Amino acid sequence: KLTLDPGAAALLDTLHAAGYAAYAVGGCVRDSLLGRTAHDWDLCTSALPQQVMELFGAEQCIPTGLQHGTATIKYGGQLYETTTFRTEGSYTDGRHPDAVQFVPDVREDLARRDFTINAMAYNEAEGLVDPFGGQKDLQNGLLRAVGEPQQRFTEDALRILRLYRFAARFGFALDAATARAARQLAPHLDCISAERIQEELAKLLAAPQPGAYLEPAVLAVVLPELTPAALDAAKPVVDACPAGEENLPVRWAALLGALGETDTRRVLKRLRCSNACIEETAVLVRETAGKGVCRSFSEDRPLGWDPAAAGSRAGDGMARFVSEEKASAHPGDIHIRRLLGRYGLCTVERLCALCAALHPQNAPDCALAAQRARQLEADGVCCRVSQLAVNGRDLMAAGIPAGPALRRVLEALLDGVIRAEYPNEKPALLAAAQKISAS
Ligand code: ATP
Ligand code: MG
Repeated sequence: KLTLDPGAAALLDTLHAAGYAAYAVGGCVRDSLLGRTAHDWDLCTSALPQQVMELFGAEQCIPTGLQHGTATIKYGGQLYETTTFRTEGSYTDGRHPDAVQFVPDVREDLARRDFTINAMAYNEAEGLVDPFGGQKDLQNGLLRAVGEPQQRFTEDALRILRLYRFAARFGFALDAATARAARQLAPHLDCISAERIQEELAKLLAAPQPGAYLEPAVLAVVLPELTPAALDAAKPVVDACPAGEENLPVRWAALLGALGETDTRRVLKRLRCSNACIEETAVLVRETAGKGVCRSFSEDRPLGWDPAAAGSRAGDGMARFVSEEKASAHPGDIHIRRLLGRYGLCTVERLCALCAALHPQNAPDCALAAQRARQLEADGVCCRVSQLAVNGRDLMAAGIPAGPALRRVLEALLDGVIRAEYPNEKPALLAAAQKISAS
């Protein structure tokens, strides 16, 4: 017995009371059986789209795809995608059915779905409808195509990527025949749009440990820029990076970093990634190129970072780091402060994570660097021009001419503060500004 989302339960009741068959279906049933929280509850019903619209009214019902049988019902502040039981006709483009046909039986609808674990329906009266052994496959941790895998992947090549995406999300194994067909038909992925490929790859990369699911036959088609050797080398790095959608740029950088910044940008642009994602990934690739940032985190490590020394003074926490002026004299701190000023804390934390994944032997130092960055940020230690104890107006009042030169003086002042040449105090900064602008 599964616990239905209250909104889904109420909508199923309404459909049943009106005489229609109706179930929760797909991902929500799978996730509930796994004991995970389902993020959205999809429903399926024998009611035709028009009947769904009539039953719930134009107020509550959005016609999101009536020709495919889909209406979205608003209930209790949530949205429920409700689709009429349907079969799909032939696929001539390897992606979209030429026509869909509405059918009265949920089992026919389940048969068009991609994997057994996604092809289960549930309602309270009938319990689980599971004609393809989805529950057993869930228990055994197995991804298996519904029906003949060759045919199902030929109909819609996107299912090949979905296979690895779902397997990676749950850490499941692949049914042998399903895996064979996926590898064999991977070249068909060339008919899938870049956006869809990117979406699927992103979900795959967000999984806990995607390395083993980065199938070379698939990657050769969707990311031909990456050589098989580069892919092999990237797998453990990707796995060692933090998971989750919010860390995607780190994972992209781990996967593509060997291509260098320019080609990484080119690949992500081709895949229609967002500009924000491209920029962030590019920064991560650039700053970790060669030994890059890792060198400063590790080899130029300031005294205060010695984990052994820190341990010997257990209890004083971050206080083990010397005062700001002294700490600033440490090359590691200088580098972290520059990075903080340039990119902000979030990116610096990602850089540390990527560094640790790339160079596991430096992982402890990278973790300390991230910790140090958080501390510097929390303490409001000066890392940006905006944090200087003087601003442009102060400098102009002191006789420094306005214009681009002013910006240059401010940047130079910041650099001096970070290198601890003088404290971040107004008199010292004004004196330094005079020297800088005279030089
Ligand atoms: P998620 O949690 O990622 O949303 P989901 O199972 O809900 O997982 P969706 O992509 O939202 O996945 O699709 C909903 C359901 O529709 C799937 O569970 C599956 O039954 C079916 N489905 C989706 N895409 C396909 C496809 N390309 N081929 C066959 N069935 C599909
Ligand atoms: Mg879904």
